[in-house]
Amino acid sequence: MDSKTRIIKGKKLECVICKNDRFWARNTLMNTPKMTFFKLDWANKSALNYICDHCGYVHWFMNN
Ligand SMILES: [Zn+2]
Repeated sequence: MDSKTRIIKGKKLECVICKNDRFWARNTLMNTPKMTFFKLDWANKSALNYICDHCGYVHWFMNN
């Protein structure tokens, strides 16, 4: 694994906290037991996380 610059909608991602421009990538499943109980299918999505490799702040991006 390595951290690197990330492009979002044609723009380079910059950490909102420390202005760093290198991030780790991670995928997170959004569904929870409660959401599954109510059959909220829209909640069963994955989110893309870019984690600042300087301060650790997690930037969330919802996949459509
Ligand atoms: Zn940061």
